[in-house]
Amino acid sequence: MQEHCSVPECTEEGIASIDGRVLCRTHFLTSSYQRLEAISGQIHRQEFQERQADAAGRFLEGCMHDAADIACAVGAPSNLERARVLDVLLWASELHSRLRRGPRMPARISVLLRSGVPEGSWEEQTETQLLSRHGAQLRCRHELRVDERLTCVRLDNGRQAEARVAWIARKGAEGLEVGIEFLTDKNFWGLSLDGSISLTDRERGSGNSARSNFSADSGEL
Ligand SMILES: [Zn+2]
Repeated sequence: MQEHCSVPECTEEGIASIDGRVLCRTHFLTSSYQRLEAISGQIHRQEFQERQADAAGRFLEGCMHDAADIACAVGAPSNLERARVLDVLLWASELHSRLRRGPRMPARISVLLRSGVPEGSWEEQTETQLLSRHGAQLRCRHELRVDERLTCVRLDNGRQAEARVAWIARKGAEGLEVGIEFLTDKNFWGLSLDGSISLTDRERGSGNSARSNFSADSGEL
C-alpha cells in the first residue's frame, strides 16, 4: 500500500521522508527549505555544533538521498521542480561539509530504554548500532517523538542516564532507527580518546578482552 503525504489535507503520494514523516514532492521541498534555512542560520554557532550536529547531519544525509532519488525518478518533476530539487541537494551537501561531528563507533551494547510519557510508560531492551561520545544510534519498537526524554540503562554495568531523542528514521517492521543524545552523563560509554571503551571492574576482573572487540571508526554514517 502506498503511503500518502502526512501533511494534513494533502492527498499526494508520499515519496520522501523527513524526521520519520512521509512527504510528497512538494512538501518535501518546502520542509527541506525550512530545515536548510534553520541549519544555515545556526551552523556557525558553537552550541549548535556541539548539541545538534548529529541530528542535522542525519537530516542532511536523508535529504540528499531523497533529493537525488527525486531528481533521477523517471517521468517525474517539471524543469522548475527539478531545479529546486538540485538546489536542495547542493545546499544540503554544502551544509553537511560544514558540520563538525565527532567519531562514530560501531558497537553493540545492550541497553534498556525506559519512557515515562503520561500516555503510558514502557521499557524496551535493545542494542546500540553506533556510539558517539554524547549519544548512540539504536533500534526501538515503540513510537517516539523527536525531543522526547528517555532513561537509558546499560545492561552490562547498570549505568544509567537521561537522554533526549535527537532524530528518528522510520524502518518498517524492525521498528524505528533512533538517535539519542545524553543529557545527564557526558561520557556514558566511557569512550577514551583513542576510541576504545573502558571496561567495568567486573568485566576487567573476568579477563574478557571486550576492549579489543571494538574498533574505532571515524567515518560518517
Ligand atoms: Zn504533500
